[in-house]
Amino acid sequence: MKNILLIATGGTIASGYTREGLVPTIAAEELLGYVEGYREFCRVDVVQPFHLDSTNVCGRHWLQLAAAVEERYEEYDGFVICHGTDTMAFTAAALSYLIQNAAKPIVVTGAQKPIDLPVTDARTNLLDSLRFASDPRAHGVSIVFGGNVIAGTRAKKERSKSYNAFSSINFPSVAVIQDGRILFYIDDKDRVKGPVVFYHELNQRILLLKLVPGMDGGILGHLYPYYDGVIIESFGVGGLPEYGERPFQEEIRRWTDGGKMVLMATQVTHEGSDMEVYRVGKVIKENYKLMEAYDMTLEAAVTKAMWALGQTEDPDELRRLFYRTVNHDILLTPQQND
Ligand code: ASP
Repeated sequence: MKNILLIATGGTIASGYTREGLVPTIAAEELLGYVEGYREFCRVDVVQPFHLDSTNVCGRHWLQLAAAVEERYEEYDGFVICHGTDTMAFTAAALSYLIQNAAKPIVVTGAQKPIDLPVTDARTNLLDSLRFASDPRAHGVSIVFGGNVIAGTRAKKERSKSYNAFSSINFPSVAVIQDGRILFYIDDKDRVKGPVVFYHELNQRILLLKLVPGMDGGILGHLYPYYDGVIIESFGVGGLPEYGERPFQEEIRRWTDGGKMVLMATQVTHEGSDMEVYRVGKVIKENYKLMEAYDMTLEAAVTKAMWALGQTEDPDELRRLFYRTVNHDILLTPQQND
């Protein structure tokens, strides 16, 4: 019998209808009351650190969740976090950086429909999550949703209404769960060596700037005082426009000379960036000290930047931390590419 801690945080799974729309109302113990069959394989305790629509969840909540796991890490065999779907991919990625090398599973789940409706994905998702968190092969941070188990750094909410809301981006699913059976595609627990490591610092002064045709690079000048790093969601495999009163290139020089992090990413969901391909990317890559997200998701790139900048301000150390693979987050690395 496994001991699982259920950490409830709100989201649609725990929401009820009000005149102002859906609001989290169902408490942690109540959630469990809607699920049958889990007592055959686990015992569950519950905690409720906050009760929010995940639109309102940010860095301090990620630190709170990591602390909730850290405080009780020795007591439990696995952890299930019930969370809203809207920012779930950010939370799962952030937890992947805040809790590294965990031999125990930390599962993030939620639902597209409240758990008290007659037709809902919530009961299946919660039961699947408790089952996955009780499996001796499971480890590290993952999302369990719609019968799919996705590495915490690889998930993206791609559908706003369907039950299969989350996809695994540029990486296979870790497992699938069908009719209560878990089929592992990535069964690699033997690679976890040494103790779990918890981190306690994030730097949230990260800007994500999505390019649109015609945008002037001067925008980066206006935002310069407010951020310690910028992630530029550029087009295709990656490049920067050369037009405008104040070209992006000049602004990037200012940011990197000022010791700020500049990371190039792509607004294309699948297959990632590769700035070496076109002149609009290659020349920038060669002339400025910037980094590249390659095959990482934007959610992972944003939260990894926050985590890495929370640990160091030294550009070389930052680069080393950013390109070190954590929870399957990056396959292409500069060593392979440069
Ligand atoms: N707005 C909700 C939330 O993210 C959506 C959901 O949970 O599906 O909390």
